[in-house]
Amino acid sequence: MRIFLFITLSALGVQAQQPADVKKLDSVLTVLYKTNRFNGTVLYGEKGKVIYKKAFGVTDYRTNQPLTTTAAFNLASVTKQFICMCIMMLKERGLLQLEDDCKKYIPELPYDSISIRNLMTHTSGIPEYFTIFQQYKTPLDTLTNKKLITLFAHYKPALEFATGTKWNYCNTNYALLVSIIERISKEPISIFIKKNIVVPLALKDTYVYDVLMPSVPANHVYGFEETGEKKKLDDLTAFDGVLGDGNIYSSVEDLYKWEQSLTTEKLVKKETLAQAFEPVKLKDGTTYPYGFGWFIEKDKAQQYWHTGGWAGFINLIYRDVKNNRTIILLSSGGNGFANSVTINFIQDKPFDLPAGFLIKNVQLIDGTGTIAKNAAVRIQGSRILAVGNLRPFDGEEIIDGEGKILAPGFIDSHSHLESSLSKYPQALAALNQGITTIVAGQDGDSYAIDTIKAEIKKIPCAINIATYTGHATIREAVMGATNLARPATAEELEKIKTSLRSEMQKGSLGLSSGLEYEAGFYSSRNEVIELAKVAAAGKGKYISHIRSEDINMTDAIDEIINIGREAKLPVQLSHIKLALKDDWGSAAKLLSTLQNARAEGIDITADCYPYDFWNSTVRVLFPKKDFTSLEGATYATEHLFDPTGSVMVRFAPDSNYKGKTVAAIATLRKETNAQTLLYLVAAAARFEQQHPDASGIETIMGKSMSEEDVISFLSWPHTNICSDGANGGHPRGYGSFTKILSSYVKEKKLLSWETAIYKMTALAAEHVGIVNRGIIASGYFADMVLIDPATVKDNASIQNPKALSDGILKVWVNGVLVYKDKTGLQKYPGEFVGK
Ligand SMILES: [Zn+2]
Repeated sequence: MRIFLFITLSALGVQAQQPADVKKLDSVLTVLYKTNRFNGTVLYGEKGKVIYKKAFGVTDYRTNQPLTTTAAFNLASVTKQFICMCIMMLKERGLLQLEDDCKKYIPELPYDSISIRNLMTHTSGIPEYFTIFQQYKTPLDTLTNKKLITLFAHYKPALEFATGTKWNYCNTNYALLVSIIERISKEPISIFIKKNIVVPLALKDTYVYDVLMPSVPANHVYGFEETGEKKKLDDLTAFDGVLGDGNIYSSVEDLYKWEQSLTTEKLVKKETLAQAFEPVKLKDGTTYPYGFGWFIEKDKAQQYWHTGGWAGFINLIYRDVKNNRTIILLSSGGNGFANSVTINFIQDKPFDLPAGFLIKNVQLIDGTGTIAKNAAVRIQGSRILAVGNLRPFDGEEIIDGEGKILAPGFIDSHSHLESSLSKYPQALAALNQGITTIVAGQDGDSYAIDTIKAEIKKIPCAINIATYTGHATIREAVMGATNLARPATAEELEKIKTSLRSEMQKGSLGLSSGLEYEAGFYSSRNEVIELAKVAAAGKGKYISHIRSEDINMTDAIDEIINIGREAKLPVQLSHIKLALKDDWGSAAKLLSTLQNARAEGIDITADCYPYDFWNSTVRVLFPKKDFTSLEGATYATEHLFDPTGSVMVRFAPDSNYKGKTVAAIATLRKETNAQTLLYLVAAAARFEQQHPDASGIETIMGKSMSEEDVISFLSWPHTNICSDGANGGHPRGYGSFTKILSSYVKEKKLLSWETAIYKMTALAAEHVGIVNRGIIASGYFADMVLIDPATVKDNASIQNPKALSDGILKVWVNGVLVYKDKTGLQKYPGEFVGK
């Protein structure tokens, strides 16, 4: 259910009065109607004469009864001006004063010194009843005004601010006003309004909706919600026994009569009514532009309005009193487009349709895993508006997909691209393989969210970025960079928790760890569990490069499962692999351990990149961190990697060794492979001491996996695809996702297109906790990739790690085309994606 009881209007505008372009208004509303973006009625009047009125659509999508301009819509918050009129009438009759304490009429209220005026002007400080009701409701309970008062009398919720000191829109105020009217007049509000407003103004379609009404009038409109091409009833809710904040029904024709009566004395005297359009004065002497159920447009002479949004309804009444112009819009199933067009029309601003385009003729693989289908997708702004068999409307920009695959932009659940984004904001490493969102902060290392946001603002980039908060990063901030080879003390742990908690609030996806690396390795199991609990409390997740991917892997797997069990949160195994040669071929055994944990109720998942060699520091080859032990080095060369297939990608101490295998370096140095391994670690450590600011001193691409295992991991239903890549280095940085499509979908037929894309999009989004991305459906962000299934192929290799993929035809991020035919388009719509 959507709840937006009012919509803020922009105060900026053109002052000059031009003749109203009713013809254009009609054509724009017609387009909105024809494209399923408007179902409603509109009336525009000037100087008491109706200039334009029209109905578009149906009263009830289930019966298809055509709408007319006399159809009665739920006015939602436009109701509030009628309630204030009743109060003003009672005041003129001497039955109440606006300064009266509400308690005089509702003694059950647990508040003192709230006046009727405070209620009318939203300055009471009383909390919103929706919130209170949801906190205490019993199932199937329909709330009424009477029950609402009982609820407040019983629970006595505290005021949100001292009465009269602030303006805060609150529906409770108006529900209480109705009870005051009913208690004074001794009549139900429906009767009072009928006698005092409907009859005197000769209104034909106006009534207070009452659940006990013997029959619903024929012109009654039902709200609905539109999701793509589908409609769903979105009408009354459990709150709709409450009257006053909404639930008067009326038509545009009646509302025009009502609005015109406000310049007469048919209902109340001019002086009384004048107060309805005066800004409310707060206790500190300032004012807020709201009167009695009317907003007052800033910087405009005598312009007043109110919107109303409730369940399936969006409405607007706007008066330009100086020029006696009025526009009224009532809609159901709307999305707000017609509303903004109408406001711009009456404010003499341009009211062209919001920019959008249609991609037609594609094989849509929507990310959910369902089978590809022929479809069109309509994009409006940064979002997907509709999906299905859509026809283009007049003047709409059309992109012909020529039967190629349209998929959601890929989500890389484990990326290291973030550090290069400010230097390479086009992010070709990501875009060339169809990635539109990277999940950063991996392996225990992260940037602070404030830093990421500031960086994107300073240097906007082409892709979206989400982040975990790194265990090592926050550990180091508290314990110091040189003091990490021990568990955190209790006092330090509290500080680490505090910084994680704060990052969670800013939108971190959860806690990441890199327990195999030295900055995390010496933490205790308990330290990590305690931190995972903080992530869990912030509705986040845990993602981990586990403590060992080789000799101590059994323990490491046990640890991550236990974290899921103890901290009760989803846990993800980063870049799942079996790096110990002796373990090659035992993927099934590891997967059955993970399945057993899932059967126990632990939500454990994994991500995987499609290569049989990794990229890291030489130091990970020493599981015991015994960097000077020949025994340790010998073990590594025999069991942990293949020295003849493992290349030094970087080696700052001696550039001659860059690009050579460990075995080749050993031959040059006339040493054994193990001796060379010890040399590489020692030389890099010396270099680091001499150049403390240097980063990336050494990296090795370690050949230590079997492809058979990689295939088993990719096929596990709970594995999503990641790159673990950066801008260069390991070819996975540029080719992971296209390699999956080329090698494992097309060539080996291991995965279907739909499953592979699911693992790159919706499944990845679910695993890391990203919402509104990863699926092509109405309302989702328009991150999309157009793929040529015939030519898609990764080209990045060890020799040429930045070679761009083939077959990624177009990539859109947030509705903006950012990449086309192997070229970045220098557009930077990327956003920070919070949880
Ligand atoms: Zn890692």
